[in-house]
Amino acid sequence: MSTVLLAEDDAAIAQPLSRALEREGHDVIVRSDGPSTLQSALSGVANLLVLDLGLPEMDGLEVCRRLRSARSTLPVLMLTARRDEVDYVVGLDAGADDYVGKPFRLAELLARVRALLRRSAAGELAAARRTSRCRVSPRVR
Ligand code: CA
Repeated sequence: MSTVLLAEDDAAIAQPLSRALEREGHDVIVRSDGPSTLQSALSGVANLLVLDLGLPEMDGLEVCRRLRSARSTLPVLMLTARRDEVDYVVGLDAGADDYVGKPFRLAELLARVRALLRRSAAGELAAARRTSRCRVSPRVR
């Protein structure tokens, strides 16, 4: 069970996407502007952020940059109508983990959400193992 933070100001996209994520078994928190998205992302309640690039007050790129400069490792799937190569690169450089262009296929977006959640769960598990190994067998050489 994961909590997905969905940042999208277009209700025509946010509503069906939110329902689809809930059908997949996720809790969904919807935000429709940059500052409230950043605040919720930093609060640590979410396991994944689906982040629209075009948000009012603070765009998705800036949200992502600020999140990363605050050392957040929250997985970010960026969503955008601008599909050229430059935007893709800028988005990834800002700290996004993956990228979906609008219009997107719902099935593809949900698959990318699953993949990111799997990857971050595996990363947390590996980190936990490293920590417990350090505790159990400290190096004495
Ligand atoms: Ca938008």
